[in-house]
Amino acid sequence: MSKKNQSITGAYSFFNCIEKNFDKAARFLSIEKGLLEQIKACNAVYRMHFPVKIGGKIKVIEAYRVQHSHHKLPCKGGIRYSIKVNQDEVMTLAALMTYKCAIVDVPFGGAKGGIKIDPQTMSTENIEKITRRYTSELIKKNFIGPGIDVPAPDYGTGEREMSWIFDTFLSIRPGEVDALACVTGKPISQGGVRGRKEATGLGVFYGIRELCYMKEEMLSVGLDVGLVGKKIIIQGLGNVGYHAANFFHESGAIIVALAEREGAIYNKKGLDVSKVILHLKDTGSILNFPEAKNIENTENALELECDILIPAALENVIHKNNANRIKAKIIGEAANGPITPDADDILEKKGIIIVPDIYLNAGGVTVSYFEWLKNLSHVRYGRMEKRFSENMNAELLQVIENVCKTKISTEEKKIILRGAREIDLVRSGLEDTMISGFHKIRDLKKSYRIENIRTAAFVLAINKIVDSYERLGIFP
Ligand code: NAD
Repeated sequence: MSKKNQSITGAYSFFNCIEKNFDKAARFLSIEKGLLEQIKACNAVYRMHFPVKIGGKIKVIEAYRVQHSHHKLPCKGGIRYSIKVNQDEVMTLAALMTYKCAIVDVPFGGAKGGIKIDPQTMSTENIEKITRRYTSELIKKNFIGPGIDVPAPDYGTGEREMSWIFDTFLSIRPGEVDALACVTGKPISQGGVRGRKEATGLGVFYGIRELCYMKEEMLSVGLDVGLVGKKIIIQGLGNVGYHAANFFHESGAIIVALAEREGAIYNKKGLDVSKVILHLKDTGSILNFPEAKNIENTENALELECDILIPAALENVIHKNNANRIKAKIIGEAANGPITPDADDILEKKGIIIVPDIYLNAGGVTVSYFEWLKNLSHVRYGRMEKRFSENMNAELLQVIENVCKTKISTEEKKIILRGAREIDLVRSGLEDTMISGFHKIRDLKKSYRIENIRTAAFVLAINKIVDSYERLGIFP
């Protein structure tokens, strides 16, 4: 761990932070110590170094794949490209995946990958070279495969990298009929599922919206019920933050500030997210957006007046040094681990509601699960039933029209007759998962009299994992 990180997280490594949260939750349960130790431990850590020729010179690349838990297979988790990647970080993110999957009933063990590079300073060709070499290293050690370990996008990666991974896998394992299911987050043309790209951001939106519908919670922080008019700040306009911002904006919430690496922008009346993105594409920066004020030090944006703060960039951004200055009433952890344990305690004392990462950003892995199922079944969602439902709806409508002796308009008919497309099924599956996950945690929080949502979410995860260990009866 770097010295700067250590000063922010106190005496703890990032992995210790998660263990601390885990231990807090374990106190509510009477589970054998050894079993708890087994659940917490990383089952397999693969640290690799491989050479890649960049600009005619050999460069040694440091990379990782960590499988945190094998209690369910395959393991699942994204791959991060960042110069800050280190073993502690990848282990922690893999552990979070295990708990996340358990909470949203996705039958995978947790995993995570990371390559220590800065993709922003590299050419596409070099990123491709590194991605393909990393994939072949994973294949060599049997660390990837539809039933073994299935990567997905994370910070610094997206559809493009996932399609290189799939292509490399298939070229080394030709004829493997389920090869498409070796990685998720692929483009639609290569077996991806509609709705995956925006899934994490949409899941964040569904989770926060559900909280805002709860009268009791809103009363506790002095806010009205519902999302309309709520003032929101989002840090990180990447895959997660951008989509979350769009969904909040469309729902009538007011995005008062957006923060990126180079600085932040603020307008108390609200920012039009799509216009900001156009400005970012044109100028390469969110700064100097015509309808907003620049904030030079991007970290300061976290401390502005708002109702909901959504960190959607990196870990440890809210720490003991700035937690006291946070004015939000609700913090939604779209990023993994954005709040250190010390900051968590400070924020809890301030009465701020924290919606934890292990629940809130589980939309990505949920839809990745749908993609994996689609790849294994070799058929697009809705293909078998869309026309059938449309025909049934038409017959039903005909009967209703006959009985009521009225005809409805063509426009209304279009809405009523429509059968579900892949995107409709994926989004409704995601919405249902996020809403039911929220209520499972909330009910458990009440029945165990737990102070905060994070601990309740960990209790739910631990219970689920213990349950599957017991059903497996795997201890010799
Ligand atoms: P991304 O690479 O698409 O976007 C991250 C964004 O954060 C980038 O725009 C980057 O410029 C910005 N950023 C970096 N440093 C910043 C700083 N100091 N201040 C403000 N902005 C900064 O990554 P992503 O996929 O959106 O992931 C973001 C977070 O969400 C990560 O913690 C990741 O682990 C988590 N997450 C991602 C997914 C997913 O499906 N992609 C799923 C679950 C969790």
